[in-house]
Amino acid sequence: MNLLLMGLPGAGKGTQAEQLIKKYDIPHISTGDMFRAAIKDGTQLGKRAKEYMDAGELVPDEVTIGVVRERLSKDDCSKGFLLDGFPRTTAQAEALEQILADLGRSINHVLYINVDQSELMARLTGRRICRDCGSTYHMIYNPTKVDGECDKCNGELYQRADDNEETVGTRLKVNIDQQQPLLDFYQEKGTLRNVEGNQKIDVVFKEIEDILIVPTLI
Ligand code: ADP
Ligand code: ADP
Ligand code: ZN
Repeated sequence: MNLLLMGLPGAGKGTQAEQLIKKYDIPHISTGDMFRAAIKDGTQLGKRAKEYMDAGELVPDEVTIGVVRERLSKDDCSKGFLLDGFPRTTAQAEALEQILADLGRSINHVLYINVDQSELMARLTGRRICRDCGSTYHMIYNPTKVDGECDKCNGELYQRADDNEETVGTRLKVNIDQQQPLLDFYQEKGTLRNVEGNQKIDVVFKEIEDILIVPTLI
């Protein structure tokens, strides 16, 4: 199954991805995670991406597209994949079509998690992530059992540098501006599935499972 997760920052893409990749046994390809790993490793890619990420702006298309092209060509993607946070521009969407055509693949479902914009600031500023296993929590909506400690691995929780009010404001604006043409693109292709994201995490997951049960003609 080749899946694409769309939604504004804070819509719940990473949270749903954690469960989806387990159930369908496919790799999670998150451009944001890949850029953060590159920054941590001090690579050339990390150095290029960092200034944009710190500002809440998009990393330039040619950089992002190159990273995804390379990742999708790896063997583990032959059984399917879950793209999270890519594409975010129409240029990226068009490049993805070409990359997949070259690989003889196509996207089965584009899952668009729709959440009221008024909710997103609270979701992002309250987000906390496990330093060891990467699990995502929320201080109020999805707290850990022990304060500051991951339920799954007891790792320490941290807050992403770009989850402060000012950068979140820029990220929301940038992504809102880019989003509509992308939704139109996939609507026209017939692969867009709307997911009601203003519900509890498990209810959203159930809705996605129900969408994926229906066989596709693609
Ligand atoms: P994205 O990857 O789309 O930016 P995340 O999955 O990281 O979003 O979720 C953003 C924050 O909102 C996290 O703190 C997460 O725990 C919380 N969250 C995710 N889904 C829901 C939901 N359905 N209801 C309430 N909070 C949620
Ligand atoms: P969120 O969905 O919560 O905004 P991500 O982890 O997906 O967070 O992205 C974090 C940052 O990484 C973005 O603000 C942007 O700078 C960069 N980024 C991630 N995906 C892309 C992309 N497809 N195109 C350009 N920049 C991206
Ligand atoms: Zn953990």
